[in-house]
Amino acid sequence: MDDLSRFCCLNPNCSDHGKRDHGNLTIPHRYGPNKTRLLRCSTCTSRSSERTGTPLFGTRLSPDTVADILAHAAEGVGTRKTVRLVGVHRDTVTRYVRSAGDPAQLLHDELVAFSPDDD
Ligand SMILES: [Zn+2]
Repeated sequence: MDDLSRFCCLNPNCSDHGKRDHGNLTIPHRYGPNKTRLLRCSTCTSRSSERTGTPLFGTRLSPDTVADILAHAAEGVGTRKTVRLVGVHRDTVTRYVRSAGDPAQLLHDELVAFSPDDD
């Protein structure tokens, strides 16, 4: 079973916008190497990726890799060290950390917004 309780409709014009675990979301489609879920709101019919609004959106990195990068950033580990530890390109680390703003806040948002695949 897919646990969608952490997700909500992201359409600000939808009457069910922002209501988590409201029963209005379905998964009509999965895409990409990580089987990212496309979510559809039955109230307004808008669609969004489960990654929308998270640093995972538009990336092909695995959730584990992104989580590692963010965890290192949150711990204050420098970019060069993170590159060595995680094994990704320096620009990739920089991009995630920059998009993060406050790493602790980002990590929190990530953990709240993201539910792992349950293959
Ligand atoms: Zn909606």
